[in-house]
Parts: sequence; C-alpha cells; structure tokens
Amino acid sequence: YPAFNVNLVRNDFPILAEQVNGKPLIWLDNAATTQKPKQVIERLNYFYEHENSNIHRAAHELAARSTDAYEGARQKVQRFINARSPNEIVFVRGTTEAINLVASSWGDEFLQQGDEIILTHLEHHANIVPWQLLAQKKGLKIRVIPVDDDGQILLDEYARLLNPRTKLVSFTLVSNALGTITPAKQIVDMAHAAGAKVLADGAQSVSHIRTDVQDLDADWFVFSGHKVFGPTGIGVLYGKEDLLNSTQPYQGGGNMIQDVTFEHTQFHKAPARFEAGTGNIADAVGLGAAIDYVQKIGIDHIYQYEHYLLEYASQKLARIPGLRPIGTARDKTSVLSFVLDGFTTGQVGEALSREGIAVRSGHHCAQPILRRFGVEATVRPSLAFYNTCAEIDTLVYAIEKLKSSGRG
Ligand code: PMP
Repeated sequence: YPAFNVNLVRNDFPILAEQVNGKPLIWLDNAATTQKPKQVIERLNYFYEHENSNIHRAAHELAARSTDAYEGARQKVQRFINARSPNEIVFVRGTTEAINLVASSWGDEFLQQGDEIILTHLEHHANIVPWQLLAQKKGLKIRVIPVDDDGQILLDEYARLLNPRTKLVSFTLVSNALGTITPAKQIVDMAHAAGAKVLADGAQSVSHIRTDVQDLDADWFVFSGHKVFGPTGIGVLYGKEDLLNSTQPYQGGGNMIQDVTFEHTQFHKAPARFEAGTGNIADAVGLGAAIDYVQKIGIDHIYQYEHYLLEYASQKLARIPGLRPIGTARDKTSVLSFVLDGFTTGQVGEALSREGIAVRSGHHCAQPILRRFGVEATVRPSLAFYNTCAEIDTLVYAIEKLKSSGRG
C-alpha cells in the first residue's frame, strides 16, 4: 500500500510480536483499546526517569520539566483537534469521565425540568447513562434518533425531534458497535439552529478520521487517549472557552482555585477550573507522544489505508455462508460486527482466540443499538492502521475452520 509501509509501522508496536496460544497475535480489538507504539512507552519511561514531579505548584527544576511536558501535551492535543486555544483542552480520565463532567457541571447548572436531550440510537452506554441519571434527578426527557436498517441515523426523524425544549444533542461521531460514521456537521448545525448545545463523542473517531473541532463546531468534543494509541486513564474534554468558563466546576480541590477562604472560593478559568487535584500527568505526556506518532503517519493516510482494509474485510466476510453483518451503512469505518448462524458470539470469540485472534464478542456497551438489529451480542473485529490483509485472511480462515468443525 503506497501511503505508508505497514510492516515498518508494525515494528513500532512491541506487542504485535507477541504469541498467544502458540500463534502470532492478531489484534482486532482496536475499538476496545489500541496498542501502544514504543514511542509512547519510551516517553512514559523518560518522564519517570527524568521529569517526574507534581506540576504548577513547586518552583524547582523537575516541577518546571513536568509542567512543560504536561502543558506541551495539551498543546499537541489542541493542534491535533484544531482547537482555538489550549485553554479549551481539559485533561480527564477518558470519554466516560468527560461526558459525566459535562452532565454534572453544565447539565446540573443549566438544565431544568421539562428540558429535552436528544441522543442517537447508536450511543455507547457512556453517552446514555450519565444523561439518564441527570434526567431522573432533574425531570428531563430523553429522545432518541432512530437508525435505518443499515445502522445510519435518520436525519428526518431527528428534525422532527428537535423543538424549543431541546437543550442538548449528544451523539457519537462513529458507532463503536457498527462503525457507522454519523453525519456530524448536519447534526451539529441542526442542533444549533434549534438553540441547543451539542456534545460530540469522538472516542471511536479520533484514531480514524481527521478531527477539526472548529469546523465541526460542537460545543464539546470528548475522547479517550487509550483508543488513539496512548495510555489508559487519560482523555480529553474539549469545550468552547467561553462555555467552559461560564460553567461551574465539576470537582473542587487543589489546582483549580485562585483563592480560598472558608467562606468563599474563586475558581481558575479553564482548563485548571476542571482539573482539580493531581491529574494523570505522565499519561497526558504519553498521549502527547501518541498524537505525535499519529501525526507522523498522517491521519489521512490512516483513513485511506483503513478504508481499503475495511472494504477488503467486508467483502471477504460477506462471502462466508451463514455470516450476517450487522451495520452496513455506506459511511462506516473500522468495525465489522457480525453474527454467525449456529454459533454463539462467545463460541466464535473463543475459537478465534485459540488462533491468536483477539476480537470482542458481546454487547460492546451499546445494548440499544444491537437490540435494534434483534441481537444481544455480536462478534466485533475492529481495525487499526497496523492490521493487514493477511491478518484478515487468517480471520476468515479461522471462521471457516470453526464452521467446518461444527463445534464452538
Ligand atoms: N463512547 C464510545 C463511542 C466508545 O466506543 C467508548 C469506549 N468503548 C466510550 C464512549 C467510553 O470510553 P472510555 O471507556 O474510554 O471512557
């Protein structure tokens, strides 16, 4: 493939040389989490060997180093998603925490009984449950945009759901269960036209599709570092600067204050406003290294290569008799959900694991969308740029072998 040399890239990922069950590892569980290049692993080591200190508060050399590394990572995130200012980048634990942060701070402060929140049928539980908790507490109504039989959302239905009571639209850019790429710009523009705020869940999009938060114009954009070749336990809440600064903090503590008395606290502006306590400094720095790595390859090269791989895999899988793909939208990326006649998804997952192939089988924390297709679980191979056509061939071969053995 012309854009980049996949074999060279694979050499950057030590774990891809791993053997499991006596077979070379084939990592096709990228939607759950991605593997880490040595550039990220080495950056974490370097931090702990040469820079480790708490940030901001102390005035010594290592505090300066760790602060520079941490704030440098924030700038890398800013440029990666094309935010206007590093002040719009809040480090959090991951997508889940970012959504809970918005629900608990902005949602609790600004939403009132009778207000409505629109979600899509594609959402991960992380973009359902926080809103449900808030809705129960405040008497809000949640409305859901339905999808068609291919797993794409229905914009006409969305238009009908929007009304003057709609205060928030929260949607995923890419479905983790089906791989559908949603029509994000239209969703955002229609929400804004109705006077609602918009949160875009980028957990499944950041590693596959170019992110430009200014172009998208969502009020918040959230993602997890571990899904974009960075460490676990670090993620990002992007929010428009004015909005962040006009929202009450999520948690109180050190780091986020300008002045405290027993009567009153003056808070910092964003991002410190939302970063109470000692954060995950090292892993933020690791995320910065992951972003450098992705940008070196080029997100557009990644997109093109993965598109080619997805087409290749979709066609091969579709030829297996008894295999039913779930999620066949024209716009999709990286996810190949399916069920196989005569076998439970657990049986397929175990059979593949015996061949060294890691896929997720289960409900993928997205039960509503699977039920929309009449299933409780699917087998879900999911791709990254280090996967190859040869790995897809092995996957197809392993499924055929399972079928001919007739046993799970
Ligand atoms: N949203 C989507 C679309 C996801 O795929 C995931 C992770 N599977 C999440 C949210 C939650 O991310 P995390 O567990 O990293 O907080």
